[in-house]
Amino acid sequence: MKLPLPELPQFDYIKAESAERAIDLLQEKGAAARILMGGTDLFVRMRNGDLAPDVLVDIKNLPGMDTIVFSKKDGLTVGAAVTMNALARNPDVLNYYPLLVEATESVASYQLRNRATVGGNLCNASPAADTAPAALVLEAELTAMGSKGERTIPAMEFFKGPGVNALEAGEFLSRINYCNPPKGWKGRYLKIGRNAGGDLAIVGVAVMGYPDKDAPSDFRFRIALASVAPTPIRVHEAEEILAQNPITETVIGMAAEAAQEAATPIDDVRASARYRNAMVKELTRRGLADVWSSLKKEA
Ligand SMILES: Cc1cc2nc3c(=O)[nH]c(=O)nc-3n(C[C@H](O)[C@H](O)[C@H](O)COP(=O)(O)OP(=O)(O)OC[C@H]3O[C@@H](n4cnc5c(N)ncnc54)[C@H](O)[C@@H]3O)c2cc1C
Repeated sequence: MKLPLPELPQFDYIKAESAERAIDLLQEKGAAARILMGGTDLFVRMRNGDLAPDVLVDIKNLPGMDTIVFSKKDGLTVGAAVTMNALARNPDVLNYYPLLVEATESVASYQLRNRATVGGNLCNASPAADTAPAALVLEAELTAMGSKGERTIPAMEFFKGPGVNALEAGEFLSRINYCNPPKGWKGRYLKIGRNAGGDLAIVGVAVMGYPDKDAPSDFRFRIALASVAPTPIRVHEAEEILAQNPITETVIGMAAEAAQEAATPIDDVRASARYRNAMVKELTRRGLADVWSSLKKEA
């Protein structure tokens, strides 16, 4: 077993005074430089000896990095350095994006959420990242900033593998836009960890649903899973079952089974693949049943 180092390895800390300076540093130093946000993932990996960057580039102070802006036209724009707690107590987020509140509040403890950022959670690209399934079902767009300016990356294309995201060398994530979801939508994030006090997900399931007259069932659902595949995933097969068939308990069960089939979990210290597999089905079923019950109330 690998033991953590007695202390963090040596590194230089640079608080970038501009986006250009941060990009220059990332380009100049390459893999020897890392962006620092809350450090709740980064310092753990450095302490474990998995990473030993020479330079940590702090960009939390750059303009827009810690702001939350909502408009009915453009949806919710969240700076990458917004902490989990700041997001979860923002009145617009509470009002219009309760799914995001549920996802962020499932992360670790209140104390950790005071430092942990939404951008850090997504950039860390852990298969277990709790805000990733919400980003997938809300079809968020991530803005990367680099030497050529800004580019937008759909959440569906952001997660490339365990710990690997779609940012290119010299780029950083500046903000996340959660586009305005369809009218009348409802959502849930359900998670199982090893304890109720906050732990990485054994399984996480985000479900959202909304009325859609163009769908044969009159409704569409989106489902995304955490911690059961090399990246967080959307489950289009299950979504299609719910769009094509009148929603009943049996159809919800069929969709939950499709989610289970899409999962490719592994055994690890937190749970066996077999347990994860069973829980994907159960959490998807529960999430769909909850969302369907809320949709029916307003139908
Ligand atoms: C005790 C404990 C419990 C935890 N529980 C949970 C949990 O329940 N659920 C969960 O999802 N996570 C959990 N985590 C993991 C962690 O807290 C979250 O992933 C957190 O959101 C990371 O954010 P951060 O700001 O600390 O990122 P950092 O640690 O600062 O950064 C994480 C990684 O992303 C890179 N990065 C960060 N921001 C950017 C950016 N803007 N552009 C480019 N690269 C960037 C960094 O270089 C680093 O590699 C836990 C961690 C600990 C220590």
